[in-house]
Amino acid sequence: MADAEQDRHLRLTGEFDCEPTPLDTMRHSTSHVMAQAVKRLFPAVKVAIGPAIEDGFYYDFAKAEPFAPEDLARIEAVMREIVSADLPFERTEMPRADAIRFFRERGEPYKAEILEGIDAERVSLYRQGDFVDLCRGPHLGSTGQIKAFKLLSTSGAYWRGDEKNPMLWRIYGTAWLSQEDLDRHLWRLEEAKKRDHRKLGRELDLFDFYDVSPGAAFWLPHGMILVRELEKFAREELDAHDYQEISTPLLVNKRLWEQSGHWEYYSDNMFKVEVEEEIFSLKPMNCPESTYVYRRALRSYRDLPLRLSEMGRCHRNERSGTLTGLVRVRQFTQDDAHIYCRPDQLLEEITALLGLVRGWYATFDLKPSFKLSTRPEKSLGTQEQWDQAEAALYEALAANALDYKLNPGDGAFYGPKIDIDVEDVLGRPWQIATIQVDLTMLPERFQLEYIDSDGQPKRPVAIHRVIFGSYERFIGILTEHFAGAFPTWLAPVQARVLPISEKHSVYARTVHERLRAARLRAELDDRNEKLGYRIRDAQLRKVPYMLVVGEREAQGGTVSLRHRTGEDLGAQPLERVVADLSREIAARSVTLTVGRS
Ligand SMILES: [Zn+2]
Ligand SMILES: [Zn+2]
Repeated sequence: MADAEQDRHLRLTGEFDCEPTPLDTMRHSTSHVMAQAVKRLFPAVKVAIGPAIEDGFYYDFAKAEPFAPEDLARIEAVMREIVSADLPFERTEMPRADAIRFFRERGEPYKAEILEGIDAERVSLYRQGDFVDLCRGPHLGSTGQIKAFKLLSTSGAYWRGDEKNPMLWRIYGTAWLSQEDLDRHLWRLEEAKKRDHRKLGRELDLFDFYDVSPGAAFWLPHGMILVRELEKFAREELDAHDYQEISTPLLVNKRLWEQSGHWEYYSDNMFKVEVEEEIFSLKPMNCPESTYVYRRALRSYRDLPLRLSEMGRCHRNERSGTLTGLVRVRQFTQDDAHIYCRPDQLLEEITALLGLVRGWYATFDLKPSFKLSTRPEKSLGTQEQWDQAEAALYEALAANALDYKLNPGDGAFYGPKIDIDVEDVLGRPWQIATIQVDLTMLPERFQLEYIDSDGQPKRPVAIHRVIFGSYERFIGILTEHFAGAFPTWLAPVQARVLPISEKHSVYARTVHERLRAARLRAELDDRNEKLGYRIRDAQLRKVPYMLVVGEREAQGGTVSLRHRTGEDLGAQPLERVVADLSREIAARSVTLTVGRS
């Protein structure tokens, strides 16, 4: 995204440098003010470009040394002076040749270079006080209209994004229409940092990464519980929806990828292995192999739909520089499925699938949004096939009463699709799921057939779909969404038993055993530490429930129940706690309910 923004500003294409909306105009204007402040403090600095971006703006500067963190505060202070001075943004136009001369004379080679690269007779300049920038605009009336901003960080950035070019120093800032919006944004950034799944993964012993296998997680026992619970959830749901699970090989001869077409355009992303003088690859996707399962029997129209699910472990050769925790990996496990159906079954299948998707995300309190992408210019298949498939997607969305965004012409060459983003608790969108109708790729390339009611062989339609996306990415998202405080059914440890002192350890052991007998993931913390310390430790580990036991509890067969939030729910009969806990877990409740009745 940053590259596209950079391009837009560099080429000065389009009508404006920034969207002519109040927020983008204000952000772009703030970037000019930042450049002005930087020039005041560091007169030798050369200015490059400064577009508005999502949530803020940046500006790139040529400077011998990087900016120090304390520079940002100084720059911000000068910016505030410029804002108080309420300098008008004045637009002027001049012939391009004059503008090149103008910026040369001011010692701004980057501006001159941008001008030399564009095809325009006249260009516009914006001035506020002593600062002049090449810009299409639009801008605010004056610097005094800037409401609420903050400089966030600085990093290196190559001129025009090309590593052969000089390294510039970029300062990122954020700007909003009100102080309240700014505060909320800063809180979100702070919260996102605290929730970073890479940090929490290590602190909560969920997973780790080692340089012997970049982009592939080592799952630790507690993280493996998340994987297993999600797999169990998925399997139960899929069984209930008449899916059949398969598992196909990881290492596959390249002949398969030649037939599927992946070898042609995707082989750079595949890990290759030579075996007995033949080239194999680790599968980057599960699709083509599922066709072997389809083709091993003669299928009749009555056998369809055939819903083949697979927890497919895939490998993709992502560049090491792009790998990020669990959300950008080389090895991942998709909750994949391929549904083979008759064209007339599409509507029903997609409708059911959307219902399934909604239920899944509701389980995790994630808000989905839907994007429908239709036939692109270059595509395979007949108009009739496309019309039918697109109609099925439209109608299925309507049948589920779902709002969606339409992306005309954005479908795959082999069929239309619905992409699904989820929004987490911080309001951040994550693209995770996709439902793709495949009219031609698998059906034609692998010559899939079924015998129709008229006795004639016909091509089925394939639907590719994932709901979690990959277990890795989904667990990364869930970790941030819940800040590591997972619902009880997912929590690696569901309850901790804490005897008040050593004297109560016999009863504590009885309680622990009772929980274990009910198949709860319970721990006994009878370490020789103060109770307060052990309570805090359980809270830090995000254990949902603490069962504190002492003399009174031992006498009455009760436990003193505490939530990890710090809430103390007082003494409760042990048997009721066990029953309520089991019920909460079985219901896969997203909130803690035990002890609240
Ligand atoms: Zn500008
Ligand atoms: Zn597929």
